[in-house]
Amino acid sequence: MPQTNFIYCPLCATALIEKEIHQVRRSCCPECHYIYYPQPNLVVLAVIEHEGKLLLLKRNIEPAKGLWNFCGGYIEFGESPQVAVIREAKEEANIDIQIDKLIGIYGGEGGSNIVAAFQAQLPSHQLPNLAIQLEEASELGFFAWEELPTLAFPVHYEILRDWKAQQHA
Ligand SMILES: [Zn+2]
Repeated sequence: MPQTNFIYCPLCATALIEKEIHQVRRSCCPECHYIYYPQPNLVVLAVIEHEGKLLLLKRNIEPAKGLWNFCGGYIEFGESPQVAVIREAKEEANIDIQIDKLIGIYGGEGGSNIVAAFQAQLPSHQLPNLAIQLEEASELGFFAWEELPTLAFPVHYEILRDWKAQQHA
């Protein structure tokens, strides 16, 4: 399994070597004993609802350019998931959302992302602020359940299915 893209130690710049530690091969530094532990990326996203419709953004970047996804992105170091998802909605769509609850945690299983999906509301007074803020998206739209466009990643369908199931729970 690939351990790292590092060739040199990020701490002391010595060439890394492969070493078995507790039955796992890892990239290690023979000089300062730094060990590279691969870890997943932590991603947050918000299923944002307004009057029964869901807010989606059309991706303007690869992968999955032209398909739709939710507001979201990577958690910054030192940030809580809740703060991160509120920040992402502001950065991407210029809106202040209200988080209702966590829908679920997704990912792993060979992928590099772990996704925390939140259910959120767009208060009516925030509607006039709605605008694409970054070049990451080319369009914004509200969609009813019956008219959802093609979503970018399989995990989005998993999240939507759980979101829908929780509406009637
Ligand atoms: Zn080192």
